[in-house]
Amino acid sequence: MTAFPAGTILGYPRIGRRRELKRAVEAHWSGALDEAGLESVAADLRRTTRARLADLGLGRDDSSIPETFSFYDQVLDVAAAVGALPERFAHLRAEDGSVPLSALFAAARGVGEAAPLEMTKWFDTNYHYLVPEIGPETRFALSSDRFARQVAESVADGYVTRPVLVGPVTFLALAKGTDAAAPGARPLDRLDDLLLVYVELLAALRAAGAQWVQIDEPALVSQSLGYSDDELATAAARALDVLTVSDDRPAILVAAGYGALSAPAWRALAASAAEGLAIDLTRGGVPSPVAGLDGKVIVAGVVDGRNVWRGDLAGAADVLDAVGGLGAAAVAVGTSTSLQHVPHDLADEPDLDPRLVSWLAFADQKVSQVTTLARGLADGRDAIAGELDAATAALADRRSAPGVRDGAVRARAGALTPADRSRTPFEVRAAAQDAVLGLPALPTTTIGSFPQTAEIRRARARATRGEIDEATYEGFLRDEIARVIALQEDIGLDVLVHGEPERNDMVQYFAENLDGFAVTRNGWVQSYGSRATRPSILWGDVSRPAPITVPWAAYAQSLSAAPVKGMLTGPVTILAWSFVRDDQPLGETADQVALALRDEIADLERAGIAIVQVDEPALRELLPLRTADQPAYLDWSVGSFRLATAGAADETQIHTHLCYSEFGVVIDAIAALDADVTSIEAARSRGEVISEVAASGFAHGIGPGVYDIHSPRVPSVDEVSSLLERAVAELDVRRLWVNPDCGLKTRGYDETVASLRHIVAAARAVRAEV
Ligand code: GLN
Ligand code: ZN
Repeated sequence: MTAFPAGTILGYPRIGRRRELKRAVEAHWSGALDEAGLESVAADLRRTTRARLADLGLGRDDSSIPETFSFYDQVLDVAAAVGALPERFAHLRAEDGSVPLSALFAAARGVGEAAPLEMTKWFDTNYHYLVPEIGPETRFALSSDRFARQVAESVADGYVTRPVLVGPVTFLALAKGTDAAAPGARPLDRLDDLLLVYVELLAALRAAGAQWVQIDEPALVSQSLGYSDDELATAAARALDVLTVSDDRPAILVAAGYGALSAPAWRALAASAAEGLAIDLTRGGVPSPVAGLDGKVIVAGVVDGRNVWRGDLAGAADVLDAVGGLGAAAVAVGTSTSLQHVPHDLADEPDLDPRLVSWLAFADQKVSQVTTLARGLADGRDAIAGELDAATAALADRRSAPGVRDGAVRARAGALTPADRSRTPFEVRAAAQDAVLGLPALPTTTIGSFPQTAEIRRARARATRGEIDEATYEGFLRDEIARVIALQEDIGLDVLVHGEPERNDMVQYFAENLDGFAVTRNGWVQSYGSRATRPSILWGDVSRPAPITVPWAAYAQSLSAAPVKGMLTGPVTILAWSFVRDDQPLGETADQVALALRDEIADLERAGIAIVQVDEPALRELLPLRTADQPAYLDWSVGSFRLATAGAADETQIHTHLCYSEFGVVIDAIAALDADVTSIEAARSRGEVISEVAASGFAHGIGPGVYDIHSPRVPSVDEVSSLLERAVAELDVRRLWVNPDCGLKTRGYDETVASLRHIVAAARAVRAEV
């Protein structure tokens, strides 16, 4: 076996430090950049990445630099390489059967009548992958040489790098089955067929010059994919049996980030003939000794790939020592996951407080941590004493810095009692709210945002750059709000919104207005495809220096006799879409955010707002991957929502909004939120979720989305009416609301107005019948 290097990372951000890939890909889609031009930007980006990683201390020719470039998504790349794109894209293949870039993008974005692959969350991250569709009709065949070409490209540049593939078990476990005729048949049943293609793929990588290949199998840490621990472990054992039979392949490093391996998976991997195992040591402790490690290298994932903290380097060195006791042939230093979930480089953040910067590590800083620890393994701890001490000092500084612990915030949180998280019974509240609001049956409303036009974005950018003064910008926003209110009155909606024109993002906006958060200038992280977000950094105790949304809501309400909903983002979503402090339990941080929101709701009430919506679209996505961890999560997440909302008067109607239709998994939690009205996604599943809600006995207000805002399509009045009729038939009509699936931010005005008019017409027609 070729020796494995002393340190590595499991992956690196691939969008470019200035989002070069986004710009190039979008230019290509718009026709402004041809395919050759796009390929050349991509090759430059890969070159820059390799050179940067070598500069940071990873070896040029020892397989320590991973090749994790992707034009769109790593799961899609494998689907294309193994010939697993659905039949509806078959006509886009080249004559030799290979999958060109245009077919890859078509599968990601749809083309003509062919709908794109679905997109969903990658494990418990904010990254979205494309869901492969696998059935008995899927004919696996090696269909792209892209992976091998990248290896060859690196060799030509004088490197020996390590290609990275989503592994066969994870690829299938993440797929959805297409066989309606055999609902029992599952994608993982196709493992043996798929393995034959992986064998070919590995041989091609070897031929191109790869000495090691990384096979990512994070499915082995999850209990949320519909397969048991044993099924996944057995599949992994089978896969590695087949993949290691031939010598015509690189050495195999199996990597399983995003959590601790299940016990059966750990045993199966150890017993396999894979030459290396990369495990996540930031979640869960060092695993127990197990047979089969003696011939293997263990890549100990002690540097956290999921957060932005510099962390406890000396603690990581201790963990490495403990891993040394497992009896593996060698131990190397690694990251817990790919670094694709963190921004590129702190050096790109000139506006951040230097003291905060000293506590942080972005991707490049984490690479340096890996190389430092690797030096410590090789030369002994004394050799890196300076670095360890500096990290320890930064940690101590962080613990004692002003703002990290705020006495007033802590005193308030410490005095909370269960009563602070509960309201009077729903029926009592509902009667009080009906009396105040006087809404018709099947009230119509929207989820909050109206289209963010180019004009709005331009005005915001100019205000940020100081090109227009604050008063001018505020005047612009007020005009926008007035326009949106008038439009909603014209359409005939019953409950109005102000449209959220002041928000760049539903989390960042609150982060910018709360103490305890910092926002970055270039801290982009890929969300999906060409989209990236800039998560805020929640570093200290959270408090609200001043009301945030109240002036906008009050102004909007002053313009209309109809109720205007106040619009807040809930504590769980604020945490989920930020980089959160790691020095206290998430539940404590969530409660601090909740108290700030609670004060905001009280101020909204005082300003005459009768309905407040607290969005929690991320409630589902933070759900732990392992079932044993889920009750504790649901306890604090639901508790923080209740803390945020339970101070409201009985007459104040609390709404919440969740952006998914997998209602079933978290139905009890949704009921436990105790909101008066909950809006959920339903249009895409043609209302299936309505039956689930009915079956669950959920008895509070519910607004199943009747308009799929993910598509520019305008639903007809009949279409909306039939969804509403289904809802009326299955649910209590007194509790039913009529609304789109989600906010309208990404839509254009034409289709928005047409769709909302159809929704109102349908609601009125159905209302007349009930
Ligand atoms: N109120 C937000 C909006 O309408 C909700 C967005 C979301 O659920 N993601 O944009
Ligand atoms: Zn939504």
